[in-house]
Amino acid sequence: MHTSALVLFSGGQDSTTCLAYALDRYERVETIAFDYRQRHSVELEARLVVLQNIRDQFPQWAAKLGEDHLLDLAVLGAVSETALTRETAFAMESGGLPNTFVPGRNLLFLTLAAAVAYRRDLQVIVTGVCETDFSGYPDCRDDTMKAMQLALSLGMDKRYLIETPLMWIDKAATWHLAAQVGGAALVDLIVEHTHTCYLGDRQHRHAWGYGCGACPACDLRAKGYAGYIASGAHQSV
Ligand code: ZN
Repeated sequence: MHTSALVLFSGGQDSTTCLAYALDRYERVETIAFDYRQRHSVELEARLVVLQNIRDQFPQWAAKLGEDHLLDLAVLGAVSETALTRETAFAMESGGLPNTFVPGRNLLFLTLAAAVAYRRDLQVIVTGVCETDFSGYPDCRDDTMKAMQLALSLGMDKRYLIETPLMWIDKAATWHLAAQVGGAALVDLIVEHTHTCYLGDRQHRHAWGYGCGACPACDLRAKGYAGYIASGAHQSV
């Protein structure tokens, strides 16, 4: 029986949905994020705002929501040259991966999350990785997650469960999942306070939230929200 979880929580739509999912299921939930000198610190600021709004608007969850961990991972920016950590344009590279790919990022995140989970005695690690709708990052794949679950469980001699609620659903279904666990109030919170845009744009407000409206992350978020609205699912929450 699992009762406690550590959520990889970046302050974006996906990880906020995962946090709500965990708060809905588990008795004790903590959050973790990594500062690897992202081009924009907007995400790191957004996550604190989201946490505060969850505490304010969802008292039944506030009681379960424990410590927030922010780990300094400047070393990741030092070893990788990507569009997320440098002022370079977004592009596809010859290997078919976008230049936003930070090699090994999720592997490092999960390893450090497991170390924190070990110390905090948390059983489940929840992450918003997704194979369905994203850029084909190899460290987001289901097989990678299963391999990490095994490696971390063996290497730390503790039975971890890595849970990936978004693995097989698209962005429209991610909005729908948020509506299922937190109702219209959670959808509104995600629209207003989570941050996804690669360019760090908090000036332009769309129906789906803030962003430049043109980068790949905005494009996915906008299309997902449009699909969610078109499905009519929002009318029943
Ligand atoms: Zn954008």
